[in-house]
Amino acid sequence: MRILLIEDNRRVGPLLREHLDDAGYTVDLAASVSEFEAITRAFSYGLYVLDLGLPDGDGSRIISLLRASRQTAPIIVTSARAQVSDRVLGLDCGADDYLAKPFHHSELLARIRALLRRSIPPATECVEAGNLVLDCASGEIACQGQRHMVRSSERRLLALLISKAGQLVPRDLIENVVMNNHQRLTPNAVEKVVSRLRATLSEEEAGIEIKTIRGLGYVLEKCSNGRGRSLGARIDNRPRGTSGCCLQHFPKPF
Ligand code: CA
Repeated sequence: MRILLIEDNRRVGPLLREHLDDAGYTVDLAASVSEFEAITRAFSYGLYVLDLGLPDGDGSRIISLLRASRQTAPIIVTSARAQVSDRVLGLDCGADDYLAKPFHHSELLARIRALLRRSIPPATECVEAGNLVLDCASGEIACQGQRHMVRSSERRLLALLISKAGQLVPRDLIENVVMNNHQRLTPNAVEKVVSRLRATLSEEEAGIEIKTIRGLGYVLEKCSNGRGRSLGARIDNRPRGTSGCCLQHFPKPF
């Protein structure tokens, strides 16, 4: 998975990059807000590690830029600002985690792993979007009275897209949480899974579709014909009635 490290310290940046490289991540390094803006015009990232004190602006501006562009990739702030008020501010403006400097690189790696684990719904849940309900545990989808099994890679991709419905899901995040980061991927492995899932959604008239954001990733949206109920619902697998599911809606951008 590709990580963007935004750190202006000439000693800390390369050192962290080396540790992340050693852990198997592909890492790019930006040393300022302007470098961040330049590099993200060309690439998308599965996760961001962000210093707040940058020479041409505050790192919180980067968090705002990412969230305003509907980027869902996890953001970990690493900062010498260690007051409770600093942590609260960083998390409130859209960061997913906050690590006060100094820290040991093993803790950063553990937090990255934890965030990536949280990126997809637990396999015990059912989730719903449009006309479709996905059982994340079994991989069975139910759509307009019909039931259909999907492959594990399509199940993980669909669960991820539904959990972030309406938001950009970076390709690198998909590679990591859907395709299993430890296996060697063919160049178009993600595209193949997306293609199969698109065909399934179309055949089942699910009322949702996967839009490609060229060079960046994918977004799950309602079909333009307006079919389908809603985007983004989570269903507990607590036994209830014949379906065994209890529907819970959670807020989504539309
Ligand atoms: Ca700094």
